[in-house]
Amino acid sequence: MIACLEQRFLPDSEAETRADDDVSSLCKALELNGSIDCGSVGVASKDFGGLYAVKPVAFIRPSGADDLVRVVSAAARSSNLTVAARGNGHSINGQAMADRGLVIDMRTMEERIEVVSCGGADYVDVSGGALWEDVLKRCVLGFGLAPRSWTDYLGLTVGGTLSNAGISGQAFRYGPQTSNVTEMEVVTGKAETLVCSETQNPEIFFAILGGLGQFGIITRARVLLQPAPDMVRWMRLVYAEFDAFSRDAEFLVTRPEGDSFDYVEGFVFVNSSDPVNGWPSVPLTPEQRFNSGRVPRTAGSVLYCIEVALHYKSSDHASTVDMAVSRMLGRLGFIEGLEFHVDVGYMEFLLRVKRVEEDARANGIWDAPHPWLNLLVSKRDIADFDRTVFKKILRDGVGGPMLVYPLLRSKWDDRTSVVIPEGEIFYLVALLRFDPAYSKDSVVEKMVAQNQEIIQCCMKNGFDFKLYLPHYQSEEGWKRHFGNRWTRFVERKARFDPMAILAPGQKIFSRSR
Ligand code: FAD
Repeated sequence: MIACLEQRFLPDSEAETRADDDVSSLCKALELNGSIDCGSVGVASKDFGGLYAVKPVAFIRPSGADDLVRVVSAAARSSNLTVAARGNGHSINGQAMADRGLVIDMRTMEERIEVVSCGGADYVDVSGGALWEDVLKRCVLGFGLAPRSWTDYLGLTVGGTLSNAGISGQAFRYGPQTSNVTEMEVVTGKAETLVCSETQNPEIFFAILGGLGQFGIITRARVLLQPAPDMVRWMRLVYAEFDAFSRDAEFLVTRPEGDSFDYVEGFVFVNSSDPVNGWPSVPLTPEQRFNSGRVPRTAGSVLYCIEVALHYKSSDHASTVDMAVSRMLGRLGFIEGLEFHVDVGYMEFLLRVKRVEEDARANGIWDAPHPWLNLLVSKRDIADFDRTVFKKILRDGVGGPMLVYPLLRSKWDDRTSVVIPEGEIFYLVALLRFDPAYSKDSVVEKMVAQNQEIIQCCMKNGFDFKLYLPHYQSEEGWKRHFGNRWTRFVERKARFDPMAILAPGQKIFSRSR
C-alpha cells in the first residue's frame, strides 16, 4: 500500500505508466472500514478561502477512530506521507490540506451526538467531524439544552473549531469553545488512541485545544451544556466615537452574569450610504431604516455598533424583558434613535449566518475566494489600531463585516495551545471580506496585500497582537506568533507527533523521514 501511495510522487508520466492507482487494492491494503478515493480528490484540495489549491494523493473517508489509527500508522511507515484531518474545509489558507499527502474527511466519520448527564451536569458527546449546527438542533430540540459558547457561523466542525479556539459573543462570559470541553478522544501522530481530560492524559488534552491539528485528531469531544432559552432579543446600538463604543463594550463584558447581556459583539461600518459597508448594513430587519440624520456632524469615516442579545423564556412577560433591557440600555451612551432590535427564536439567532450563506450561495459570493484576516489585539493598542487601520486603511470597508469586540483573558485557559495578547482585555478583529469582485485574481491579490499592510502596521507600531486562525510561511513567523510558548509547542510536537505527520497545511513543521 505504501508503495502504491508513494509511487504517486513520481513524475506524472511515470506514475501513469505504472498505473498502480487501483483504489480498491489501496483500500484493501489499508484494511479500512471506510473508503479511500485516489481519483476525485477535488474537494480535499480546496477550502473556503479559495486562495490555495493543493492536491493530496488520496481523500479518505474513515468509518471510525480505528481507521484513523490505520491511516496514521501507514503514513508513519512511509518515508514522506502526511495526514490532514479536514473538518468542513472552512479554513482560509489551506490549513486542512496535505500536499501529496492523505486528507481525511472527518465529516463522513460515523456521527455521534449524544447527551449525557454526569456528576450533576449535562454534556454532549459529539464526534469531531460533526457540525455545530447539528449539535445545536439535537441538543435544543431533543433536550432543551445547548452548549454555552458558540461560533457565529455553525457550518463548522467541532474538531476544526476546537483546534483553533471557537469565538463568538458568548466567549466574554464562558470563554472560547476550548474552555467548554471536559474530555476528548484523540488519535495522536504516533497512532495512539487516547481519552484525555484535565485529569486523564492532561498533556495531550491541553495540547490539542487550540493546537492547530498538530498533535492529534479529535474523534470525540464532551461539551458542557446549559438549559437553552426559547427566545432572544437581538439588538444593535450605534456609536460615532471609538472611545464611547469601547468603553460601553468593555463595561458590558465585565459585568457579572445577570447584570449584562448574554451575547456581546461589535462591528465597525462605513459612515456612508454604501449598501454593503455602510449604514444599510446595520438594521436587523428589512423594515428598519438607518436614520443618518442622527449621526453627529463630527463623526469620522467610520461608525461603530455594539451588537447584544438577551436570552428569555417564552413564558416571560413582555414587560419583564422590556424592563431588563431598558435598565441595561440606560447605562450605555449610544446615539439616540440609532438603536435596532428584533425578537427571534434562540435557534434562529444562532443560525443567523446560515441566512447569509444562503444569499451568498445564490449570488456566487460563497464560492468566490475569501481573503479574510482575523486578529486578536490587546486593549492597550486597540484605540491606535482603530486610528491607523479602521479609520485609514479600511475607511472604505472590506465588502463585508468588520467585527471588533472585547474578550477576557481570564476566561481562556493558559494551558491550552492557543496564544493571545497580554492583559485582561483584548479585542477580536475579524475582516470578513465578501465581494463579488473577488472572482478576479487581481482584486484578491490586492486584498491579500491589504491584509499584509495591516499586519505590518501592527508590527511597525509595536502593537500587542496575535493572528487568530494564524498563517505563516516561515518558522520565524511561527516563533514570533508563539513567543515564549514556542518551546512548549515544539516539545508537544516532539512528544505527540515526532515525525510531523499531522496537519501539514499549517506549515509549522516539516515531515521527518
Ligand atoms: P478545517 O478548516 O477543515 O480545519 C481547520 C484545521 O483544523 C486544519 O488544520 C485541520 O487539519 C484541523 N482539524 C480539522 N478537524 C480536526 C479534528 N477533528 N481534529 C484535529 N484537527 C482537526 N471561527 C470562530 O472562532 N468564530 C466564528 O464565529 C467563526 N465564523 C466563521 C464563519 C465562516 C463563514 C467561516 C468560513 C469560518 C469561521 N470561523 C470562525 C473560522 C473557523 O473556526 C475555522 O475555519 C476552523 O478551522 C473550523 O473550520 P472547519 O471545521 O471547516 O475546519
